[in-house]
Amino acid sequence: MSGRLIGILGGGQLGRMLALAGYPLGMRFRFLDPAGDAPVRFLADHLVASYDDHLALAQFSAGLTVATYEFENVPVATARALEQHVPVFPPPQALDVAQDRLAEKRFFTQLNIPTAPFAPVEDRASLDAAVTHIGLPAILKTRRLGYDGKGQILIETHSDVDHAWNALGGQLLILEGFVSFARELSILAVRGQDGDIVCYPLVENVHRNGILHRSIVPAPGLTAEVNILAETYARRVLEALDYVGVLAIELFEVDAAGAEHAAPLLANEMAPRVHNSGHWTIEGAVTSQFENHLRAIAGLPLGQTSARGYVAMVNLIGRLPDVTMLLALPDTHLHLYDKAPRPGRKLGHVTVCAEDADHLLERLAVVERYVLASER
Ligand code: AMP
Repeated sequence: MSGRLIGILGGGQLGRMLALAGYPLGMRFRFLDPAGDAPVRFLADHLVASYDDHLALAQFSAGLTVATYEFENVPVATARALEQHVPVFPPPQALDVAQDRLAEKRFFTQLNIPTAPFAPVEDRASLDAAVTHIGLPAILKTRRLGYDGKGQILIETHSDVDHAWNALGGQLLILEGFVSFARELSILAVRGQDGDIVCYPLVENVHRNGILHRSIVPAPGLTAEVNILAETYARRVLEALDYVGVLAIELFEVDAAGAEHAAPLLANEMAPRVHNSGHWTIEGAVTSQFENHLRAIAGLPLGQTSARGYVAMVNLIGRLPDVTMLLALPDTHLHLYDKAPRPGRKLGHVTVCAEDADHLLERLAVVERYVLASER
């Protein structure tokens, strides 16, 4: 099994955790990332170059067994150019779909996966038409390059439309109906080169200021119906794209009592890569999402995805808390990404494990107290 050299486009924390998972499997890593201070810089071979530098891409691809990406805004043309030299998984078509919120929503719709109502917005007239068609409240979003809640504005009443247009107008946009969801969930699924599919237990996610704050597994009080729906949706996406690797789909669970939407589960977006809501799998699952992504792209059998117990993950954002306090807690695990502190930046995460839900919630309350105190 040794001797595999894995090329990864993007050298952030996801790449770092991929490499950390791959070393025990005898894999070696080479990263391409334009940032000289990327979190992988001390961990593996790191080529500092822009994604559209063709000379650098040729140098990057030399001798690779397989290539993948950990950054979903890698130019599709780069992934396709790389495919001329080495197999690239997940397929670049997945990037194409995931990089454009409109293409993504249309793709879900084609696969009979329900979403919030949506309409394309190209100019002010189409915004007015979309508001009439979808109704308010709604969210105006950029179609491209939006992440962690950036590039989106809530339109609550007609008097907010001008402001939203002034803030985001002039680029390709999408208007989405506002979903008054009961909670946010995500599903992580993995497909191997032989078409085998495994799914992790559904995750309950809480966002703060548009950024993932906390994940809990198993999602408390999940019904069998929602579980089956999420897995069915994930399978449809994986099969439609002939996907290989880990895929995450962010979902809204709608309160059945609301009856506002016929479906209990709406897809918000997908990430064709390992995902922040899967970091809990490092200590909390039989096989981590990072190892399973590598197994998939290397053509190896997939590992079991069951949770080892009750698990929660809390992101460390902007500023680090007193880590000695965190490390003193039982079954609590710290991951730092070697990034300079900056407001809104993901610097690390903490995973808390427990044998039962009560102990998990107790430990999680302590962790959150430390973490939120440091973020203030
Ligand atoms: P996104 O960048 O699409 O993942 O959005 C970031 C966060 O904004 C989501 O995790 C939700 O909390 C919220 N959000 C996005 N779209 C909607 C929507 N259509 N209705 C309600 N909340 C939304």
